[in-house]
Amino acid sequence: MARDNETKAMPEKTKFWMTVDQAENPAQPIPGEFELSGSPIREGYEKEGLDRRDFMKVMGASAMMASLAGCTKQPVQKIVPYVTNPEEIIPGQPNFYASADPISGYGLILKTREGRPIKVDGNVDHPLNRGGLSARGQAMIHDLYDPDRLRAPKSGGSDATWEQVDAEVMKALDASKGSAWLLTGSVMSPTLKRVVSEMGLRHVMVDACPMDDVLEGQQQSYGTRVFPRYRFDKADYVLSLGADFLGTWGSTVEYTQAFAEKRRLEGNKATMNKLVVFEPVMTITGQGSDRRFSVHPADMLTVGLSIAAEVAKLVGRSSDELSGFSAAASSQQTGIAPEIVVEVARDLVKHRGRGLVVAKDRGDRGIALQNVANFLNSLLDNEGETVDGTSSSSMQFQGSHQELEKLMNAIRTGGVKTLIVSGLNPAYLFADSMKVKEALQAVPNLVYFGSYQDETAALAKIVLAESHPFETWGDVSPQRDVYSIQQPTIRPLWQTRSLLECLAHWSSGKKDSKASEEAYGEVMKTAREWHGRAGGGKGFQDWWDDLLMGGVVSSGSRDGKASARSFHGEILRTAASAARSVNKGGEAEFTLVLTTSVALGDGSQANNALLQELPDPVSKNTWGNYLGVGPATAKKMGWNDGDYVKVESSASQVELPVYRQPGLRENVVSGHLGYGRKFNGRVGNDVGVSFANFTGNSTMGTRPSHVITGLRISKTGKSERLPASQTHHTLEGRDIIFDTTLEEYRENPKSGIVSHFKEGQGPASIWSGFKYEGYKWGMAIDLSSCTGCSACIVACSVENNVPSVGKAQVQKNREMQWLRIDRYYSGETSDPETTLQPMLCQHCENAPCETVCPVVATVHSDEGLNQMIYNRCVGTKYCSNNCPYKVRRFNWFNNNGDMNGPLEHPIPLSKNPEVTLRSRGVMEKCTFCVQRIEAGKSQAKSQGRRVNDDDIRTACQDACASDAIVFGDLNNPESRVAKLVQSPRGFASLEELNARPRITYLTKVRNRAPEKSTAGGHGGGEHH
Ligand code: SF4
Repeated sequence: MARDNETKAMPEKTKFWMTVDQAENPAQPIPGEFELSGSPIREGYEKEGLDRRDFMKVMGASAMMASLAGCTKQPVQKIVPYVTNPEEIIPGQPNFYASADPISGYGLILKTREGRPIKVDGNVDHPLNRGGLSARGQAMIHDLYDPDRLRAPKSGGSDATWEQVDAEVMKALDASKGSAWLLTGSVMSPTLKRVVSEMGLRHVMVDACPMDDVLEGQQQSYGTRVFPRYRFDKADYVLSLGADFLGTWGSTVEYTQAFAEKRRLEGNKATMNKLVVFEPVMTITGQGSDRRFSVHPADMLTVGLSIAAEVAKLVGRSSDELSGFSAAASSQQTGIAPEIVVEVARDLVKHRGRGLVVAKDRGDRGIALQNVANFLNSLLDNEGETVDGTSSSSMQFQGSHQELEKLMNAIRTGGVKTLIVSGLNPAYLFADSMKVKEALQAVPNLVYFGSYQDETAALAKIVLAESHPFETWGDVSPQRDVYSIQQPTIRPLWQTRSLLECLAHWSSGKKDSKASEEAYGEVMKTAREWHGRAGGGKGFQDWWDDLLMGGVVSSGSRDGKASARSFHGEILRTAASAARSVNKGGEAEFTLVLTTSVALGDGSQANNALLQELPDPVSKNTWGNYLGVGPATAKKMGWNDGDYVKVESSASQVELPVYRQPGLRENVVSGHLGYGRKFNGRVGNDVGVSFANFTGNSTMGTRPSHVITGLRISKTGKSERLPASQTHHTLEGRDIIFDTTLEEYRENPKSGIVSHFKEGQGPASIWSGFKYEGYKWGMAIDLSSCTGCSACIVACSVENNVPSVGKAQVQKNREMQWLRIDRYYSGETSDPETTLQPMLCQHCENAPCETVCPVVATVHSDEGLNQMIYNRCVGTKYCSNNCPYKVRRFNWFNNNGDMNGPLEHPIPLSKNPEVTLRSRGVMEKCTFCVQRIEAGKSQAKSQGRRVNDDDIRTACQDACASDAIVFGDLNNPESRVAKLVQSPRGFASLEELNARPRITYLTKVRNRAPEKSTAGGHGGGEHH
C-alpha cells in the first residue's frame, strides 16, 4: 500500500527488542497468539481445573455476581426502591467524597454509587499526590470488598463479640501500666498519636519496607531525624544512587508528579530535567532514566564516594575524608569508566542548587550511602533548595528498627505485658533468625489488629478485625504542614473497627459508648487545633465543611524556601571506611538483592487479584516472584526463563523460576519480597515464595539487610512457562515506537520519527473517509512521561469491571486487561535502554477489526469510537486476528459470570454499574471509558455548552501521576489533546497500515548526548 510514496533513504532508527532471545537472535520469532492460546471451544471449567474453588481463588474481589450480568440468563429477582430516599442519593448518579489514605498519606476522591464506593482516585487538590495514585492505591477498592477479610474479633482462636474483647483488652491494659506497648507502621494521624500518648502506651513504629536508613542518615549528617521533603519539582538534575523514587522508594506518586512536570516538552518548551541512575537491579527509575549504569550492590557506596570526591575537587573543597576515592581510583573495582564519574560530577556542579541526589543501599551500608548523598546535597547547595528538612518534612516514614530492637529486648526481659500490633505483620516480615516470632509468642497479652487471619494473627491471643480505611473516620498529616480528613464512605461491612476507634473507646472508660463516635470526637478535637492554625479567619463549622468537601488544608506556603542545615563533615570518614571493606563473594557465589514490587509492595495486599495479575513494570511477570538473573550469568549457568532453581543461603532456601533480566551484573540476582504469604487469603496464599528468611544474616540487628552474599544456586530440573505478559500480543517485530535525544529534538523536533511517507503525504486509501461533525474523540500519550507505574492498568480494570483470570490463563496469553504497558529494550542486554508504550485500543478511523466482523458486532460511532456490541458478538475472533495492535481480549470463560452459582457477598458491590458485564465467548477492549464520555456530554448539554477538557477524563488518564495520557475532543482546537496531536513529536503507530489510529504517541526523548544511541544499537536505516 502506497509503496510509491515511501521515502527512499530512511533515517537511522533505534533497534528495539522485547526479550533476551530476540536480542540475541532477531530472526527468531516470538511465540504468537495462535501458538499459545490453545483451543478454547472444548475447554470446560472442570477440564481446565477451573472449578468454583479455583475461580474464587483467582478472581477474588475482581469477580462478579451473575445476577448483575447483562448477558447471562438470570433468575427473576425482585428489587425494592428506597422507601425514604436519602437526600444525597439520586439513583443512577454518583456522589464523590474526599478522603485520605492513612498508609500512603495521599488525598483520595471516592466515587460512590447508591451508598457504596466503587472507584478511588487521587485528590487533585492534595499537595502531595495532586490527583495521581499508585497501582496499589487504585486497587484498594477491591480490598474493601474482599470476602476473606476478618468479619469479627476473635479471642483464644474463637469468634467473640466486641464487648467481650473490649473487656479482655481493657483488663489487660489496666494490669499492664507501664508495660503496655503498641507496634505499628508509620502513623500519620495526629489524632491517633495523641490518643496513644494520652493512654501512656509505648509506641514503636517500623516500616514494612525499611526507610530508616534515610532517617538515621539525616540524624548523623544534620542532627535531625527527619524524612526530608525531596523537591523533584525544583530539580533540573537528579542523581539516584539506587533509590527507585519513581517506583518503590519514598513518596513515589508525589515524586512522579513533580519529576514528570519538569520533563514535559509541551508547547515551545525545549528543556527537560536529567536523570542519571546507578543501581544494582533494574527498577522503574532505572528504566525511566536518561543514563543508567548497572553497579554491583557491594560497590554502590564506592560509586557514591568517588562522585563525592570528584565534586569536592571541582568546587575546591578539601576532601581528606575522601582520600583514596576518585573516578580513576574506583574504576577498576566498580567497572564504571572514570569519565562517566567525572561527567556526573561536572553535571552536578553545573546544576548547583538545582540538582538533587537521592540514595538507597539495600545492604548493611545504607546509612553510610545516605550520608554521602547528604554530603553532596549540602556541598552543592541543594540542601534547603531541593531538600527540605526543616519546613515541611515528611511523616510518611518514621519507622525505627532500633526501637523495634528495644521492644524485642523488653519482651525478652519480661517488660512487656500487653502488646498491641496494628498495620504491620511482623511474623511474616521478619526473618526467623531475628526471633521476632518467638518474642511475640512470649508476650502475655498479644493483641493483633488486622484484616486477615494471617501470620501474626496466628500467634495472637486476641485478634481484632480491622475496618478498611473507607469505612471509618480518621485524619492524616503526611507532611508537617498538610492535614487531611479520612471520612467513611460506607458503613463497616462487618463487625470491624479501626485502631483509633478501639483506643478511643478503651481510653474513654465508657462501656456503653460507641467506638465510632468516640473516634469521631477525637478527630474533631484535632481538627479544632488545625482550625486554629489554618482556619484562615473562617468559623469552625464553615472551615470543617470546606475541609470535608476539599479533603485537605495546608498551614503554610509550601513553595517557600527551607533553611539549609549544616552538614557534619566528620561523618564522611565513617562512610569512607565502610566502603573500604567490600565483599562480592566467591566466583561460584551469587549476591541476591531483594526489592519490593510495584504491584505487591510489602505483601499486605497479596489477596488482591488485580495486583497479583498486574504485570511487573520491569519483567512483565505476574502471579508470583521469580529470580532475576542477568543474561550473561544465565547463559553461563545454562538457565532459561522458567527454569526452577534452588537458592540457598546459610539461613534459608527457596525454589523459584528464573527470569533473564537485562541490565544485571554477572552473579548478581534479584528477587521480590511480599510473596509467599501464609494466611486465609484465597487469592494470595502461597503465591510465590517468601525471601524474609534470607534477610537473617544482617549485621544490623533487626534492620533487615536486603543484599545477601554467598548464595549457592542450582537448577532443580523443573521448568514452567512464566506467566509473563511481555511477549503476548506481539506486533510481529513491526516498528511501533520512536525515540530521540534532547539534542536531536532541539535541532529537529521531529527527530527519531521514521515516516513511510513524504512530508504532507499519507497512504492511499480505498475509504472515502468520514466527516466528524460533532465530537471527535482522541488521545495523546507522551512516551517521555510514562514511567510504567501501571496505575492506569488497575484504574482501567476497576472502572470497566475487567476481570482477573489467574496464573494458568495468563500462561496461555489470556489475560483480560484492556490496557498494557509494552516494554521495549534497545542496546546491549547487559546495559539496555528502555522505552515504554501504553497500548490500548487505538479506535482506528479505518478500523481493521470492523471490516472482518461477520455479525457487525464491532462498529464505528459518529464520534470516532470503535464500539463493541457485546450481545451481537459470536466470538469468531476475526477482529482480534485482524487487529495490528493486538488489543482485543476474548472471554475464554465466563469470567464475569457465576461459574457454579452466585458469588459471595460483598464481591458484587465492587462493580461499576455503568459498565456492562461480559460473558463467555465475547470479545472486549478499551472503550475510551464511553460511560464517562456520555456522563460528560450529558453534563455539558444540561449547561448548554460543548464539553471541555475537565468534563471527561478517562480512568487511565485520571490515574496517571505523570500526566502522560491526555484525552479529549479533537474537533475543539482549544482542547489540550487537539494541540498535542499537532506536536512535531506526534506519530501514529503503524501509520503505514493506514488504520488511522485515534491515539497519537509523542516520541520518547532522552536527555543525553546523541552518540549513546549509536552505541546503544542503532540500526542501519533499514526499514520495512
Ligand atoms: S501511562 Fe500508565 S504506566 Fe505510564 S505513567 Fe501513566 S499511569 Fe503510569
